[in-house]
Amino acid sequence: MGGYVHNSLLVSITAVCTSIARAQAPSAAPSKLSVHWEELTAADFKDGIARAQATCLLPFGILEKHGPHLPLGNDLLNVRYVALNAARQEYAIVFPEYYFGQIFEAKHQPGTIAYSRRLQLDLLQETTDEMARNGCKKIIIVNGHGGNNSLLPYFAQAQLEAPHDYVVYVVGIIWSAQGEPKHKSNPVTDMHAGESETSLSLIARPDLVHLDRTSQESGADQARLSALPERLYTGIWWYARFPNHYAGEGAAASRELGEFEAKTWINGVAQAIRAVKADQESLRLQDEFFERSKHPLDTRQ
Ligand SMILES: [Zn+2]
Repeated sequence: MGGYVHNSLLVSITAVCTSIARAQAPSAAPSKLSVHWEELTAADFKDGIARAQATCLLPFGILEKHGPHLPLGNDLLNVRYVALNAARQEYAIVFPEYYFGQIFEAKHQPGTIAYSRRLQLDLLQETTDEMARNGCKKIIIVNGHGGNNSLLPYFAQAQLEAPHDYVVYVVGIIWSAQGEPKHKSNPVTDMHAGESETSLSLIARPDLVHLDRTSQESGADQARLSALPERLYTGIWWYARFPNHYAGEGAAASRELGEFEAKTWINGVAQAIRAVKADQESLRLQDEFFERSKHPLDTRQ
């Protein structure tokens, strides 16, 4: 029975892998090193780590509703589009699909996968530990999901809990810069599946954007906690304002804005890769810190 289950599982995994491989026909010549971790042979991976100067990217998405018109995996698809293009500009190895983040606030919507807080931290730690064991001594987490904005800096801070032989860096969404095309909707509430995000999706995966459905729901701020002072934080804030997981106006999206945003974010990540490759200080300071933290009374003031 166990063997039967195992075999049929293997067959279906093989079938899935084959169809994924067909769907993503290799764009690079075989002699060129892929930026995709999963496309490299073991020997090429070794060369890739050397070429990347031990720098690897972990693009971080989520599975969550994105208004009435964008796919559940929108953040994963967009962040991978950006990370892969940045790594082609400035070589780094890109970890496979990762979407195990913080998204409790969307549990009332279909298709959300919300792992427990323990698992979010354990899985991320084991993932970066395993990446580092394989030579990724500089790991840049590229965050594509706003709900991870507290989790990831906390995770980076938590790396000081115990000695590590690698450094974790975090870079988030970068999409406004000088020369930006004029927005058609209010930038204050353009937060989720609105003009900006939908524009980027029109570049990354236009086939998955249903512009004709943007007005099926409202992306207006419901402001149900507006009586509270702005600086007072509570976890239900997002649900209070945008329970439909739609904030802004997707209908205002354009390819022109999307192209600008894609270029801005890709260049920003490529710049981060270059800075991280050149960074000789973070690991040295971490080592010094861990050494000193063993005997704090000896630390000279
Ligand atoms: Zn999103």
